[in-house]
Amino acid sequence: MAEDLKLYIAGEWTEGTGNEFHKLISPVTGEHIANVPLASPADIDRAVAAARTATEDMRHWSAFERADLCLRIAAAIEPLEEEIARIQTLEQGKPYQAESLDDIAEANQYFYNAAEDAKRLSGEVIPTSDRHKRMFTFRRPVGVWAAITPWNFPVTIPLEYVGPGLATGNAVIVKPPEFTSWALLKLAEAFDEAGVPKGAVSIIPGGASIGEHLVQHAGIDAIGFTGSSATGKKIVAQMGIKRSIMEMSGNGPTIVTADANLEAAASLAVYGAYYNAGQVCCATERVIVVDQVRDEFVELAVKASTAAVLGDPFDDQTTMGPLNNEPTAAKVDRQLADALERGANVLVGGGRAKGFPTDLYYDFTIVDRVPEDSSLSKEESFGPVLPILTASDDEEAVAVANRSNLGLQAAVFTSSLAKAFWYADRIRSGTVVVNDSTDFWETFQPFGGAAGTDTGWGRGRLEEFTDLQTVVFDLKNVK
Ligand code: NAD
Repeated sequence: MAEDLKLYIAGEWTEGTGNEFHKLISPVTGEHIANVPLASPADIDRAVAAARTATEDMRHWSAFERADLCLRIAAAIEPLEEEIARIQTLEQGKPYQAESLDDIAEANQYFYNAAEDAKRLSGEVIPTSDRHKRMFTFRRPVGVWAAITPWNFPVTIPLEYVGPGLATGNAVIVKPPEFTSWALLKLAEAFDEAGVPKGAVSIIPGGASIGEHLVQHAGIDAIGFTGSSATGKKIVAQMGIKRSIMEMSGNGPTIVTADANLEAAASLAVYGAYYNAGQVCCATERVIVVDQVRDEFVELAVKASTAAVLGDPFDDQTTMGPLNNEPTAAKVDRQLADALERGANVLVGGGRAKGFPTDLYYDFTIVDRVPEDSSLSKEESFGPVLPILTASDDEEAVAVANRSNLGLQAAVFTSSLAKAFWYADRIRSGTVVVNDSTDFWETFQPFGGAAGTDTGWGRGRLEEFTDLQTVVFDLKNVK
């Protein structure tokens, strides 16, 4: 029996006035699990108006009051964690035990971090040339944000915007994709429980047309976008003068040097390619191995691939569930076919798995001798594929890594500190991880890309949600 979901607008649960519904099909079971109402332009206007009222009120709260709100939200999420994680697995496909539960715990962390940071965000006293003047800066909320989010982390990514946004007095309207919005809507019950002001958070699931409407809406001050670079380009062209945080695609290289711990490199590269079935912006998208250790690394990677256990994501032994959607699976099919045509070899897996309830279960795949001009190397694949490329030496490995313009997160395996810094100085990437997977992250690390991928998150994350206001006092022009 499919669940009839409701939109969360201006602190109320509503079907909206759109009269259109998305039929939500689980990638895990193939069953029709929910009906998602799609908001009309009038519903969006209502959310924007309520958000404006909420941020006008919250800008006058003290930082400590906003921090308390974030802590109340975190406390209210905790009893819902298992149910949110279960729904997320059903609608997204990631393993419940190995990943989904962790995601929800991480989601909570965005509120804890924001509560701590809010109390320490401060302005400055700036020296002036005029002895009668005093100059101060204050951090003011930007206002109303539209957070346009992807389907690979349906809960954590929206909360990366909601936590810091509320902590600094902003209102956030979240637009998740219509096909991964149920878990987030479930979590919104915690906003009610915690006493979030009406309109400070609204959740409006939908696709590109609802996204475009929000991007162009005159009542929206800022866009938080996490998604593909292709969509990001469209948004930048359409948004006009709005503040923005843009988090986009990655094509993360893992470089394996001659002095690397090859066992660690192999198992962490495999992990980085199968975690969330490869549907991660900082997934291991390419391994670049120097010739000297190539054969040994390939053998170890094939051995390590048994860690990718494809299966029912509700089974505790499963480490990899189905892909979320058909366009993603079809893209991986195309990239594999192209790589094979150009001379690559499949060592493990190689396509869709048989005998599962949907066609979205994809075998973990290792492809060797991948040519650099193949789409598997040049583009983000977003599937459970480990492409292996080779380089004659360190210089060539850096050159291959830097030929992608999606420099989000890279990894280097080496036992030499000097070599680690040599690489970090040369790889154009927002983050360089030494001796761990590209899939490493912390909720408080600066996260963003080089080479045109992202504008990204800075340190602490809260400043991006504020405008810097300067206030100047003249001490002599008084009565
Ligand atoms: P997508 O770009 O297709 O969609 C992202 C969001 O944008 C969705 O909510 C979608 O409905 C909306 N959208 C689509 N067209 C729009 C338009 N014209 N105007 C406004 N909104 C529009 O991306 P996706 O397939 O959902 O997500 C996968 C991508 O996200 C990958 O490229 C991945 O690397 C990236 N990603 C990046 C990060 C990061 O932190 N850099 C994190 C997660 C995912």
